[in-house]
Amino acid sequence: MKVLILGGTTEAMALAKRLAGHSVIKAEVSLAGRTARPVLPPLPTRVGGFGGVDGLADFLTGNRIGAVVDATHPFAARISANAVAACARVGVPLLVLTRAAWAAGPEDRWIGVPDMAAAAEALRPLGRRVFLTVGRQELAPFAAVPDRSYLIRAVDPPDPPPELPDHRVILDRGPYTLEGELALLAEHRIDALVSKNSGGTATAAKLEAARRLGIPVVMVERPADTGAETVHAVGEAVGWLEERAASGLP
Ligand code: NAP
Repeated sequence: MKVLILGGTTEAMALAKRLAGHSVIKAEVSLAGRTARPVLPPLPTRVGGFGGVDGLADFLTGNRIGAVVDATHPFAARISANAVAACARVGVPLLVLTRAAWAAGPEDRWIGVPDMAAAAEALRPLGRRVFLTVGRQELAPFAAVPDRSYLIRAVDPPDPPPELPDHRVILDRGPYTLEGELALLAEHRIDALVSKNSGGTATAAKLEAARRLGIPVVMVERPADTGAETVHAVGEAVGWLEERAASGLP
C-alpha cells in the first residue's frame, strides 16, 4: 500500500524511520520546503506545496496513494484542512499523527491567548525582555508592541528581518535541555516567554525553565482541530496503516 506522510515534524521523522524498509507499506514523505537545510527522512521525499486541495487530490489519485498520515505541526492549519478536504474528495483514508498539547501545572504562570496578535497584546503588562519562540514566520504582530527587547529563536533567519527596533536572533534547532534553557533565560535576563502550544518533548524544556524561574509564559493555543481521526503515538499510526494494508487496498 502506498502512503503519503505529510511531514516537517519530529513525529513524521519517527514514523518515517519506523516505515523505512517496511514489507507492505511504501511510504513517501512530503515537506513544505520552509527550512533551508531540512533533516531528510529515510524515505523517498518530495518538497513543496501541492497547489491547494485540487493539487493534493490530484497527487493522491495520480500516485495511487492508499492512505495519508498528516503528521504536520499542530499549527500548520492550512495543509491539515487541505488534507481533510482532498482525502474526502478522492476517498482516501486520513489519520492525523500529532503530539498532545502541553498543559499548565500549578506552578506555571501561563497566559493563554488565541493567536499571535493577542500574544503581543498580552505582553503589555509584562516585563521588557521577551523571549519569542514562535518560529520566524509570525513575528509581524509583535511590531504592535515595539518598546520591548526581543530575543528571537528560530531554525532559519527571519526573512525579511522583523520590524522590531530592539531585537536579536539566535539560530538553533531543538531538542533543548533544561540546563541550556535555564542558562539562556538567565543570560538574557528574560522577563517573559512567548510560545505556541506545540506539545512534545523536544522544545518543552523552556517551559520547565520558565516555571523554575517564575517567568510568565504567553501561550498561544492551537487552532481548532479538523475533526479527523487522531493518534498521538507513532506505534498507533503504524498499526492503523498495517490494518489498512491488510484490508487489501492498493
Ligand atoms: P500551513 O500554513 O498549514 O500550509 C501552508 C501551505 O504550505 C499549504 O497550503 C501547502 O501548500 C504547503 N504545505 C504545508 N505543509 C506541507 C507539507 N508537509 N508538504 C507539502 N506542502 C505543504 O503550513 P505551515 O504552518 O507553514 O508549515 C509548513 C511546514 O512546516 C509543515 O510541514 C509543518 O509540519 C512544518 N512546521 C510548522 C510549524 C508551525 O508552527 N506552523 C512548526 C514546525 C514545523 P499547497 O496548498 O500549495 O499544497
